[in-house]
Amino acid sequence: MTKTFRFREPIGEKKNDFIPKIRWACHRYCSQDCVDQKRRGEPMELLNQRPHWSIRKEGEQFSKIDQGENVPFDISLPLPAKDRGFAETGEGVELFREIFKCQHCGRCCYTPGAGLYIDKADFERISRYLGSKKKLRSYCKFDKNMNSWVLRQPCPFHDKTSGKCNIYGVRPQTCAQYPLHPPLEEMPYNLAVDAFCPAARDLAKKTLSWWIICENNWAKLLKMALDPRH
Ligand code: SF4
Ligand code: SF4
Repeated sequence: MTKTFRFREPIGEKKNDFIPKIRWACHRYCSQDCVDQKRRGEPMELLNQRPHWSIRKEGEQFSKIDQGENVPFDISLPLPAKDRGFAETGEGVELFREIFKCQHCGRCCYTPGAGLYIDKADFERISRYLGSKKKLRSYCKFDKNMNSWVLRQPCPFHDKTSGKCNIYGVRPQTCAQYPLHPPLEEMPYNLAVDAFCPAARDLAKKTLSWWIICENNWAKLLKMALDPRH
């Protein structure tokens, strides 16, 4: 940990009261270090030193992750989410992009669903690429409640033969972000992915043991917070 921190408000007496603040402090002060530790393979060193649930309960955890094939849910990853108000927390997304390997299965593009909302910037960019707004509108419906255009699903731009996106360079932001979803409410500082994506499920399994780094950092911060000298 390269920076020191101080809690600005009194901390509750129960240990559980600390947890959200510890996670917040870890996100703010350790996110760069934590990503470096994971890049350097430090989880393996720690795992060799002591038993961890990611190894002991691996089978159980993997079968939970695999349920994403049929049940919709998001998985929290041991990588810091980007905090819009704080530039130094973008490292987690960078590492995610480095290690995420799309399998080009097309599930996220051709699976029938409610549709894909496209914002104003998406609409302008894609219609420019297609040569007319009218053409893009013909692939969409308008959602009055959301005041937004919605791309029909299965997506009209998904090429079934190649499995690729016909408008890849100008695809909607939602597609460019996928399979990243907003962080889970209970883990607001960690990246979250859609368990429906097979590549995201693989990545969640591969990085399961990385939680040992997070837990280690939380434990160090907790110790500092409980130490009256800090
Ligand atoms: S569902 Fe995941 S693996 Fe499949 S195409 Fe979409 S992003 Fe790639
Ligand atoms: S716009 Fe492209 S990436 Fe997005 S759902 Fe359609 S085919 Fe997939």
